[in-house]
Amino acid sequence: MAAKGDLLYAWTTDSGLAEKAECGGAVTALLRHALETKMVDAVVAVTKGYDIYDAIPVAITDPKELDKTAGSLHCGTLLLATFIKNYLDGAKKMKLGVVVKGCDLMGLLEEAKRNDVDMKNIITIGVNCGGSVNPGVARKMIKAKYGVDPDTVHKEEIDKGQFIIEYEGGHKGISVDELEEEGFGRRTNCRRCLYKVPRQADLACGNWGVIGDKAGKATFVEVCSEKGADLLTKAVAAKKLAVEAANPKGIEIRGKVEGAMLKLGAKWRKHDFTGLRDNLWETINKETSRCVKCYSCIEKCPVCTATAFKGRDESLMVRRGKLPSDPMFHLRRFAHISDSCINCGQCEELCPMEIPLALFSHAIRVEADNAFEPKLGKSVYTN
Ligand code: FAD
Ligand code: SF4
Ligand code: SF4
Ligand code: SF4
Repeated sequence: MAAKGDLLYAWTTDSGLAEKAECGGAVTALLRHALETKMVDAVVAVTKGYDIYDAIPVAITDPKELDKTAGSLHCGTLLLATFIKNYLDGAKKMKLGVVVKGCDLMGLLEEAKRNDVDMKNIITIGVNCGGSVNPGVARKMIKAKYGVDPDTVHKEEIDKGQFIIEYEGGHKGISVDELEEEGFGRRTNCRRCLYKVPRQADLACGNWGVIGDKAGKATFVEVCSEKGADLLTKAVAAKKLAVEAANPKGIEIRGKVEGAMLKLGAKWRKHDFTGLRDNLWETINKETSRCVKCYSCIEKCPVCTATAFKGRDESLMVRRGKLPSDPMFHLRRFAHISDSCINCGQCEELCPMEIPLALFSHAIRVEADNAFEPKLGKSVYTN
């Protein structure tokens, strides 16, 4: 019987699934069990589309289809929270099992505070996250740094600080530090991210700390809630999942890797924010001057509620029939979202003019956090 606080190695008992999965298939096995036993009506996860640069969010209701979601896609920069809010009625009418990275989870929690999502209807299976790479940058990086045609790459992974690709004719790894020094590697918001082990999820799963004969064949699961303990216990009882206590040395290693990643995130924050500190307004003014007012940054932001696209004729930020918008748009937007920006990077990722929007709102939020109470979700989050 699993309990909150347990630290376990877990893997699927289905050898077919184990083949397709990233590290033993515990995540997919848990979700499949939740769907088969009707604990949830649908599972929200990610599947590979055309190639490894094409990560697609899916809502699956047939357990037999879940295998196609197994595996980790690092060149997918989706936010599942907005997918659930916009396309699944915020889980208000159905129960969902959802795979979440730290930013997906923070997005859901912020949306729940705004009554856009009902967390009572969601079981969250968290995955540790070292970061993700913009698909366009990944293609350029693979060509420039690896000397490989990106279309021939069929697998990628981030392991022991390296971004590793498998392609027709070989495999190659380059250190993420080296890639980032040259402007490639993880998205800039991911470098600053401190949500490494998503302990606000019901279960937090990852490969850090899996050692010995289970390395690569099992996932390290931290049980973070009663709901998570219940799902795990039931999946083990139904023989869909096998578990054993995590190796004490593995627990120590996982702690050290997490600590090193948090330090790296703090280093990037210092690097990015220091550059802005003395000239914040001037920099924002200059960078946002090229905005073409497409409003994609407010459409996709999980914490922004004041869009003009929700059936309202008027909002503080966007007025119908007024293009280009009021030049106060950016200031209003920052004032509106910067106290709760989760640094998911969606605004920046989708901005056609490549304005570093997440950098600005994240910098403002962190500065506000240092000055005011309450901090972003202080009761539940540590970052
Ligand atoms: P599987 O059974 O293979 O299931 C994996 C699940 O992840 C599937 O449901 C799939 O839909 C979902 N998924 C795939 N890509 C994405 C995505 N881009 N966004 C959201 N969900 C996705 N673990 C660590 O310990 N350290 C890390 O640094 C680390 N970084 C990661 C970065 C990313 C972008 C992702 C997606 C995962 C990362 N993980 C990390 C977790 C690890 O890769 C495995 O997902 C985890 O160990 C579970 O393995 P599994 O075999 O049980 O999962
Ligand atoms: Fe992972 Fe954080 Fe980047 Fe989200 S913002 S993909 S949790 S590193
Ligand atoms: Fe994410 Fe940008 Fe919104 Fe912040 S402002 S929560 S980075 S979309
Ligand atoms: Fe302007 Fe970029 Fe926002 Fe579009 S996404 S409104 S171009 S800042």
